[in-house]
Amino acid sequence: MELQIIESIEQMREISSRWSFSADVALVPTMGALHEGHLSLVREASRIASTVVVSIFVNPLQFGPAEDFDKYPRDLHRDASLLASAGAKIVFPPRADEITPPTMELSIDPGRMGRVLCGEYRPGHFAGVATIVSKLFNIVQPGCAIFGWKDAQQFLILRKMVQDFNIPVELKALDTIREHDGLAMSSRNSYLSDKQRQAATSIHRGLQEVSAAFKNGNSKSDTLIEIFKRTISAEPSLKLQYISVVSMDSLEPLDMVVPGNTLVALAVYAGETRLIDNIRL
Ligand code: AMP
Repeated sequence: MELQIIESIEQMREISSRWSFSADVALVPTMGALHEGHLSLVREASRIASTVVVSIFVNPLQFGPAEDFDKYPRDLHRDASLLASAGAKIVFPPRADEITPPTMELSIDPGRMGRVLCGEYRPGHFAGVATIVSKLFNIVQPGCAIFGWKDAQQFLILRKMVQDFNIPVELKALDTIREHDGLAMSSRNSYLSDKQRQAATSIHRGLQEVSAAFKNGNSKSDTLIEIFKRTISAEPSLKLQYISVVSMDSLEPLDMVVPGNTLVALAVYAGETRLIDNIRL
């Protein structure tokens, strides 16, 4: 079957009412400007479900006033052709005035989980994400939805949202896809100058050093954080915004790594571009 592009909510609802949260339908929510990271999610979706819907929506609610909403890359034509080859059946690029009409009042409050880590520096961001993803779940009615560990805090908040609100969608997260030199793929990497792009490789290097130190028996969060900071401070063009060692269930800070349940998450500025990355220990 050829890739269908469905723009209107009404038309999407008409189709999804036929499958109503069937496990055989997988949704991959994205903001477009697709790269190999997104496509890995789509391929996995098409492995586990016979219908794969990919939403493309640059969500205004998740951008702060000083952030890059206007310059965020958009290319539906290119995205659609990549999605057709990756096995998607439907692309859903809803119009902003339909998904977030001026009459909309309510939003989902992700609570404390939305105020820590990236949430401390991007107030309202995770409320914007949770609100739009819950709307996408209601409209597309998939049985499962696939996300990337690249945005670990987003995934953990959405996993809590489906638990807390009894939403019948099973969530799955896949490992971060990286460039050959370790930089996590991101639509925002296109903003980087050559020099910044080169410097940004030390983010993954720093995380690998953290991982190696942990494997060598170092479990103290403070020590691991210092190890990362040392790597990053060797790059004058990078500025660390935060690094935290937290529990994957609650996102509460941990003094010591709890093996199998620990996230080391960080954000770094390369010039004006904010990059995030993480590892699980
Ligand atoms: P975005 O378009 O940035 O909102 O991302 C859409 C989905 O793709 C989210 O679930 C992201 O976590 C995931 N994603 C983004 N970058 C990567 C990557 N490098 N590897 C794996 N998944 C990713």
